[in-house]
Amino acid sequence: MTDLLAATTASTATDAAPDSASTVVHPAASVDHIATPLTDARSQLAEAIGLLGYTDGLHQMLATPRRELSVAVPLRMDSGESRLYLGYRVQHNFSRGPAKGGLRYAPSVNLDEVRALAMWMTWKCALLDVPYGGAKGGVAIDPREHSMAELERVTRRYTSEILPIIGPERDIPAPDIGTDEQTMAWIMDTYSVNMGYTVPGIVTGKPISLGGSQGRASATSRGVTHIALAALRHVGIEPSRASAAVQGFGKVGADAARFLSEAGVSVTGISDQYGAIFNAAGLDIEALSEHVRATGSVVGFAGAEPIDGAELLALDVDLLVPAAVEGVLHEGNAAAVRATVVVEGANGPTTPAADRIMRERGILVVPDILANAGGVIVSYFEWVQANQAYWWRADEVEARLEERMLSAWQHVLGYAGARGLSLRTAATALAVERVAEAHKLRGLYP
Ligand code: GLU
Repeated sequence: MTDLLAATTASTATDAAPDSASTVVHPAASVDHIATPLTDARSQLAEAIGLLGYTDGLHQMLATPRRELSVAVPLRMDSGESRLYLGYRVQHNFSRGPAKGGLRYAPSVNLDEVRALAMWMTWKCALLDVPYGGAKGGVAIDPREHSMAELERVTRRYTSEILPIIGPERDIPAPDIGTDEQTMAWIMDTYSVNMGYTVPGIVTGKPISLGGSQGRASATSRGVTHIALAALRHVGIEPSRASAAVQGFGKVGADAARFLSEAGVSVTGISDQYGAIFNAAGLDIEALSEHVRATGSVVGFAGAEPIDGAELLALDVDLLVPAAVEGVLHEGNAAAVRATVVVEGANGPTTPAADRIMRERGILVVPDILANAGGVIVSYFEWVQANQAYWWRADEVEARLEERMLSAWQHVLGYAGARGLSLRTAATALAVERVAEAHKLRGLYP
């Protein structure tokens, strides 16, 4: 598998058509060691394929998105001027069901990133046994620079452009970085107006009053917390005596910090995109949330001292939760991590080189496709509820979420333990095996 891995890690945004095998196999390509989310995702896949002994043909299929759409999204600004943004929707795999995955608004969004995120969604859904394939969407826009009216127009235009490939039985978007339940409401409305009837199952992460699920907004953070507490106990640390650092105070990090602290974990460090803060005695998360609501950032919080972002990742804590973006734990800083357990709230926060370094240092890394799967699990519950027009109580949602997270944790732990694998390799192999099994049973058409 080494050749294929070398070839895939050399693949860049300039790749030819994604459905051509040449995207994956360039035997003569020189390997450049600049890690991107896509090279990371493909090297994780290559490792799982090697372990499972699968053929190059199957490897190529799983390394390559099934379908991808790039769209130009013109926006009429409130000022009257017009701007153009680039958008994408990548559907990585449909073998186990409709494609599923979030929609990201960030200036750095690009096709390769969306391809990686779509692949991770396929593994996440398979690992947690929700009946979906994987997809991801993105628009290269900074939502902080736009009014609500502008964001509404961008969202509706992007939705119109991807309309032919989405649908409750085809591909179901959800929130991700830079998008929220209001974004989902606009997508649902745009899709429904075009269909001529209301289609609540077209998106998940909707407002509850439009058919969203109880517990969806905090589901990723709840799932991260269930896994973090289980992982701490697994390494012999009682959560009520544990300390934690959380990178990111957005959709995942903020509630994860709150739930961890409610569980008795002392959260001593938190960062966001503007800076980082530290308090050895534990941060008051309630008061910090109040400060963030008022100022828009953790910076300047009175109950803490400022530190820099690099220091946050190297804090002397039991648990580190990277809950921001990809590639933050890399070859250059993995040796500085002092946590005993890393639980990935973000997608793809650890590069393969950092994985190796932390493994050698005895750090337990719980991979994204397991740790942050709570969001898509409750998305699945939301889709089931919307399709049946019958809604569950919050306690039912939460009990089912916890049950699925903890049984997946046990499964991955058992598989890894029996084979001497890292949790990431075990989780990826389990997921890839399920997708491959579905693919083989369905067979190739024609
Ligand atoms: N964006 C979330 C993730 O990365 C949720 C996706 C979904 O619910 O479809 O898992």
